[in-house]
Amino acid sequence: MGTKKVRIFVGGQAFYISQEKLLHGPPSKLKQLVKSGDVDVERPADMFAAILAYYQTGELHMPMASCPAAFIQEMEFWDIGQDRMTQCCANRLIELFNI
Ligand SMILES: [Zn+2]
Repeated sequence: MGTKKVRIFVGGQAFYISQEKLLHGPPSKLKQLVKSGDVDVERPADMFAAILAYYQTGELHMPMASCPAAFIQEMEFWDIGQDRMTQCCANRLIELFNI
């Protein structure tokens, strides 16, 4: 039995993930959008890779090359709380913002 893939367009780039992984993953706007059909959003594709990896691995890390403030905005767009970030990257945020 093959795994059904979901195609997601972000910033004109196509991303694929197994439907099972996505639907069993944590709640987010991505999950909501996929339920209502094709996803095609104008957001930065490089940062979306980290959001997708969250569903692939269960861990949310901030891309090394990303501006943390920009990544926080992406998390807000996708309805993913900052508390879901893994400890290593949460520590990076704390260091950077002193929060
Ligand atoms: Zn990390």
